[in-house]
Amino acid sequence: MDETNRLIITIDGPAGSGKSTLSKNVAQALGWRYLDTGAIYRAVAVAAELMDVSEPEQVVALAKTLDIKIETCDNLSRVWLGDREVTSLIRSPSISQFSSVVSSYPQVREALMWLQRQQGANGRLVTEGRDMGSVVFPMAGLKFFLTADPQIRAERRRLQLLREGRAEDLSEVLRLIIERDKADSTREIAPLSIPKGAVVIDSTAMSLFEVETIMLGEARKVFGV
Ligand code: C5P
Repeated sequence: MDETNRLIITIDGPAGSGKSTLSKNVAQALGWRYLDTGAIYRAVAVAAELMDVSEPEQVVALAKTLDIKIETCDNLSRVWLGDREVTSLIRSPSISQFSSVVSSYPQVREALMWLQRQQGANGRLVTEGRDMGSVVFPMAGLKFFLTADPQIRAERRRLQLLREGRAEDLSEVLRLIIERDKADSTREIAPLSIPKGAVVIDSTAMSLFEVETIMLGEARKVFGV
């Protein structure tokens, strides 16, 4: 087995399960890089919106030509489309829903695969998404599937949006989370699923610190770090 591939931790799970915070914290604790693949799909959705395209073929053609740059600084995933920074635009609730639509197009996923694998080429990566352990990095040395009750996830997401200055109604956040989970889990290509060999963590009754402790404990066992 390629050692570089093994030095990858994947964290998959539904919206609002705490993947982002935990992936960043685990990456920071290990001194590894962090990759938020949802941000890449969100960037495609923003580009499509800016170009006013919504037909699948148009979105696919656009995704193939996009120059997406992603960087993590100070715990924030910063994203550019060419020279234009779209870090804030990608986080709007409408883009959350639209990114789920564009991510269901097989050719969009194909077009974005190289970008994700390129980021993992040198190993020492913690990456989060929906198909990290199952499709993009199946040889990763450690895989997690993180979940929690929808109600809890909605509340966490509402608080996160509030911190970003967006006040949203809890029942609406919950409705959108359920809608997105359903779309992400039932699509034909790379649906959200528990990757083979993944450590499953239900964080409903756990603090982020507790989950992080479990993850770092597993990393120590697997990688000796
Ligand atoms: O994780 P985040 O909520 O930012 O992801 C936005 C959307 O991008 C998800 O709802 C999902 O449809 C899509 N996505 C995906 N595969 C990934 C990461 C995200 O399909 N690896």
